[in-house]
Amino acid sequence: MMRCGKRRCRCKDELPQLHGPYIQWARTVEGKTVTKLLTADQLARYQPWLDNARRLRNLATELDTLTIQAVDQTEGWAS
Ligand SMILES: [Zn+2]
Repeated sequence: MMRCGKRRCRCKDELPQLHGPYIQWARTVEGKTVTKLLTADQLARYQPWLDNARRLRNLATELDTLTIQAVDQTEGWAS
């Protein structure tokens, strides 16, 4: 649910009626967050790709953490 860019709109009222629900797809491009709105159909179309990309990011983070732990322990740097 979100507000739009119009100055006068039901989403800006005292009791706001927000637009949506929309599915917001946020990603980072060159250090900036880029968001796009997806319909349910579009999300269904790309869900497997998005799931795979998330899994890959999580695995990369896990590998990074394990590497740091291994180096710290092996080199006696762990405090
Ligand atoms: Zn609005």
